Amino acid sequence: MICPECSSELEGRGSHYKCGSCGQKWIVTFTCEVCGELPQVLASCGAVSFFCNTCNSLKSRESMNKEFVKDE
Ligand SMILES: [Zn+2]
Ligand SMILES: [Zn+2]
Repeated sequence: MICPECSSELEGRGSHYKCGSCGQKWIVTFTCEVCGELPQVLASCGAVSFFCNTCNSLKSRESMNKEFVKDE
């Protein structure tokens, strides 16, 4: 994902991300790009994935709608 402030790559997983370039922390809210529902977050063994119960499908971070809020 791309930092909204400086367009660098963000690092992190789940809903917490940090920009390695400008140092800004972000809380990212994902919603399904198809139905607009909040996907269920599935965490296992350090990996986080998103599943939309309404669409009954796994979602990728890149395809979902994202809302960035600064974490300060
Ligand atoms: Zn940045
Ligand atoms: Zn959906």
